[in-house]
Amino acid sequence: MKALISGGGIGGLTAALALQQVGIEVELYERAPELMPFGAGIQVSPNGVRVLNELGLADQLQAFAFRPEGLEMRLGQSGRRVFMIPTREDAVRRYGVPHYHMHRADLTEVLSTALHARAPGALRMGRDAVGADQDGAGVTLRFADGSTARGDVLVGADGIHSVLRSQLFGADKPRFTGCIAWRLVIPASRIKPGVIPPTGTVWVGPGRHAVTYYLRRGELLNFVGLVEQEGWQTESWTEGGDRDALAADFAGWAPPLQAVIAEADDIFRWALFDRDPMPAWSKGRITLLGDACHPMLPFLAQGAVMAIEDGWVLAASLKEGRDIPSALAAYEAKRKPRTASVQLRARQQMGFFHKRTFIEQLTTYGPMWLAARLAPSSVNSRQDWLYSHDVTAPGG
Ligand SMILES: Cc1cc2nc3c(=O)[nH]c(=O)nc-3n(C[C@H](O)[C@H](O)[C@H](O)COP(=O)(O)OP(=O)(O)OC[C@H]3O[C@@H](n4cnc5c(N)ncnc54)[C@H](O)[C@@H]3O)c2cc1C
Repeated sequence: MKALISGGGIGGLTAALALQQVGIEVELYERAPELMPFGAGIQVSPNGVRVLNELGLADQLQAFAFRPEGLEMRLGQSGRRVFMIPTREDAVRRYGVPHYHMHRADLTEVLSTALHARAPGALRMGRDAVGADQDGAGVTLRFADGSTARGDVLVGADGIHSVLRSQLFGADKPRFTGCIAWRLVIPASRIKPGVIPPTGTVWVGPGRHAVTYYLRRGELLNFVGLVEQEGWQTESWTEGGDRDALAADFAGWAPPLQAVIAEADDIFRWALFDRDPMPAWSKGRITLLGDACHPMLPFLAQGAVMAIEDGWVLAASLKEGRDIPSALAAYEAKRKPRTASVQLRARQQMGFFHKRTFIEQLTTYGPMWLAARLAPSSVNSRQDWLYSHDVTAPGG
């Protein structure tokens, strides 16, 4: 069997490795002339690390990753901690694998290096897919330069603006969330040690929140700021932003955040759009994966991790040897409930992080502050529904 994949992001690369591992020939077509993921951090929670480790990448990930001490929530203005879920050793104890924070370029490098080694020539750059046709015997992927590729099954891993999704199911209807996001990465050495905690920290406040964490063994520091505002609405991850405007959005917030913003040089911003879970992902021999079929708001940091889980399940379904449409239907049936629930819970998080009044903050975060001190296990288990999910287990 030969699988074609359109899109060489984290989802497409992981799917290629998973398919190759179960003995399926793979060709991965990427539009960009070279893999240049945008400069930002990515939290790879244990449910994703588990898959990557099963793909034989444990040592390579460890060489690049930062292992956070915990996942924290702090009040953005005072900097006071609400709670912390320990993760450095505890993630391994609780979920069997570590919790990593990585630079996107490092994760892409790990995945693409492994693919080059295991399936030389499988990754084909500068190939812009414009559509696909299928018949009883196979599927043909068409490219902008007029060339084609032929395989048995086609996976659209072509991201949030997926060409293949539009072809299969028509244009999607994104809604502006009323929230924009800022992102930046700086060398950690620019900030005094101890100012930014060695955790994944969510700093919450009225109508906005920020997230800080370290990358690349602690050498880099990642900042994301999410702010409710109307007006500007560009859904691009590579649009430049202005430091004064970012500083104004977080004026009066805790000194550690001011310190990071003051050191920023390359700043980017994008508008957050929300989409409902799709009713179907596949038609015949063509299916979708990752952001192409379940784009989600970044409030649970699970978009890429869900794409990683998808890749594993897709390969397992195709390996079982059923006819291709049935295997794709089984993949979709397994993945849709999980990804839809993560998509919907990510949507709810925005309101949870952005409490506007003192009373709202007190009634929402007060019980969590108390629980963290009196019954820490109730707080430490908050992410179990997400992180303990094991797609690599038999029937997973
Ligand atoms: C700032 C930010 C922070 C985030 N943080 C996290 C996090 O901490 N943890 C997490 O799990 N997720 C996070 N996410 C979400 C995550 O980045 C996405 O969910 C993930 O990148 C989706 O992977 P993908 O492979 O499906 O799509 P993409 O990464 O978008 O990759 C799609 C690929 O397809 C290629 N392509 C597109 N069209 C074509 C075509 N016509 N022909 C050929 N190739 C094509 C593109 O060039 C691209 O390489 C974050 C997102 C953002 C914006």
